[in-house]
Amino acid sequence: MAPVPDHLRALFPTITEHERRIFIAGIDADTTFYMLDIEGCKFSLPPDDLLITQTPSLHGDSTMSTDEWTQWGTDDLLVVSALCFECFSARPDPETGRTAHLMLKMVLHFANEDTNEGFEKVWAMGKEAKFYATYLLSLQGNHIPVHYGMWAADTLWGGVAVCTILEYAGVPFKLRGPYDTSEHRAAFASLVTDLHHCGMRHGQLIWPFIARHFLWDATKEIPRVVDFTLISFHYDCPRLLPLTWYNSSPTQLIRCGELIDVGLYLELFGGKPVADDEEVQKALKVLQDYEEKNKGKASYSAEEALQFQREWLQQHRHYAGT
Ligand SMILES: [Zn+2]
Repeated sequence: MAPVPDHLRALFPTITEHERRIFIAGIDADTTFYMLDIEGCKFSLPPDDLLITQTPSLHGDSTMSTDEWTQWGTDDLLVVSALCFECFSARPDPETGRTAHLMLKMVLHFANEDTNEGFEKVWAMGKEAKFYATYLLSLQGNHIPVHYGMWAADTLWGGVAVCTILEYAGVPFKLRGPYDTSEHRAAFASLVTDLHHCGMRHGQLIWPFIARHFLWDATKEIPRVVDFTLISFHYDCPRLLPLTWYNSSPTQLIRCGELIDVGLYLELFGGKPVADDEEVQKALKVLQDYEEKNKGKASYSAEEALQFQREWLQQHRHYAGT
């Protein structure tokens, strides 16, 4: 174990002794990163192993040469996003027999005197890390990737590098792409309904951003959502129906802008008149009846009623074989 370099400690007073060596594609030697402490937050540690990255990509483009991408942060064109590196642990996990699959989001040339971009990006990374460790904690590993904290290194090839290490969460879910099935679309609709049920509105589930924020994890066979820089918590969703597929287009009953946008994007709505959609009408009645029966109770909440309705709808469909 090498001590944290003074230069890094001066930039990041909360830097810890936790270190990981990362071998980055295109760079000859491995680089030691140190974990940053974020006040009040706890993160899982990534595997205690050498981590090996692939060539980085920017907005999905991985054709950049090492000479090009190591300039990230010094060139106006490169500051729009972070560099993303797919990454694997060197050795398989003894329990699962599989190497860990991770994603690194990295900012280079932090604290470069010519530009403030690095500061802004690292600030945003820190904000998002806090969300992962607090409001989003219970969703990690399922709807959202596991967050392994923020790490910094003093490098010869990219100045001060700061990265977020995340569990690899899959590939962008493309409509009419390889993972597109009606079940998978419904799974994304259910995921977003879950977020709203917990009072969270993602804030960037509109075209064209939605295409980057919905990922399909083919290993775990689950949908994932990423990028929480514009998320709101304590959101009071006005829906009267869950987001799922319908034979009609009950947007006036779904009422919630984000759910409607996602539903339209995923093409979940059919052409039947809402008034003739028996299932929708029954689901509304179920919600009303539950409200009437339970509204006076101390434990009652609108979300509890909506959850009851959602479960009813799932069962109804199960028995109807749809
Ligand atoms: Zn909503």
